[in-house]
Amino acid sequence: MCTQYIEYKPRRVLNVYKHCDGAWFWNRYSANPYVGCEYGCEYCYFRAKRYFRFDWDFSEVIKVKVNAPILLRKELSKVKKDITMLGFYQPVEVKYRLIRSMLEVCAELGFPVHMNEKSDLILRDLDVLKEINERSWACVTFSIITKRKSLRIWEPKAPSVEKRFEAMKEISGAGITTGTALIPVLPFIYDDDENIEEIVRETAESGGKYVIGGSLTLGSPLTEHYLSILRENWPDLVEPTVKLFSSWKKGREKADYPKVGDVPDPAYQAKLGRKVKEICERYGLSDRIERPLHIYPPEIRSNKAVANYLFERTYRLELEGAPPHKIWAYRKAAWTIDEMEISLKNLLDERGFDGLLSLPNVGKKIAKEILQVLKEVD
Ligand code: SF4
Repeated sequence: MCTQYIEYKPRRVLNVYKHCDGAWFWNRYSANPYVGCEYGCEYCYFRAKRYFRFDWDFSEVIKVKVNAPILLRKELSKVKKDITMLGFYQPVEVKYRLIRSMLEVCAELGFPVHMNEKSDLILRDLDVLKEINERSWACVTFSIITKRKSLRIWEPKAPSVEKRFEAMKEISGAGITTGTALIPVLPFIYDDDENIEEIVRETAESGGKYVIGGSLTLGSPLTEHYLSILRENWPDLVEPTVKLFSSWKKGREKADYPKVGDVPDPAYQAKLGRKVKEICERYGLSDRIERPLHIYPPEIRSNKAVANYLFERTYRLELEGAPPHKIWAYRKAAWTIDEMEISLKNLLDERGFDGLLSLPNVGKKIAKEILQVLKEVD
């Protein structure tokens, strides 16, 4: 079936998140001029009902928000400057050029952008990305999960990985921060050291600065779809996969599909994260994307530095397998500091250590760490 494009004019285009996506992509906003994605990857989260609630095939019918750039200008004018994720490039963009127009809006209004892409079509708009990067910050993350031939089973229509790495080289050469999202790592298929190392090595050779890794997440009816592909191509992996997604939850030990959970065992996720970190270190890359501080007003830059520290701590605790209450304590404190409108330094000057303790979600232990970070960023 030929892909069908349906034009329409929504009332809004900008998603404003309650909290920044700390220690991952760092965006506070996102906007996509298209509903659906022609690449139709078999593991795509759009196949899960909670992400794509419509009843048409997300890869065969693409709804086009023809007024997206106009809406974006209007909506960005009403919010504080922060990182905006735009996307995704796909064949429909060749015809409509909406992402380009939206990038031009960001360039004009001084909004930093983060793009998470599978398509080298992004190179068409390198001039605008450079302009944004000069004025604030631009970052391009390429989604790459393997270089193996079997990728065609999972990504039948996406541009080749070679093209993505070539695009990464060009973007890095233009002085724009770039790297790889090794997401989703498909359990037992692409989670081996050799695969991860190949992606990390090629990222380093292509001028990338980081590789962030994350496991597959499921959700009905993606779960059924994913298992059917395993059954056809990797039948031996059906059982371990079902177990990985179900056995760690109490009561699911003996349950069969369809009681498969949406996320794999946290211990598996932590081990995967540690593996990515260790391999990245060997190649001089980071396993996190560095958040730019210069895009924020000078008076709250130290707040952001502290928030970055707390977000990073949250992630590291996850990798260590720390208890959830401890992880959540750091995450909530990070949100508190990240969203403060007044300067932490001023608060400290005026009210001392008690000032830090007066903040929601900040206890004595975390307040001491905040104090230390503030001294270091001084
Ligand atoms: S490119 Fe991304 S959004 Fe598009 S189908 Fe693949 S995983 Fe989904």
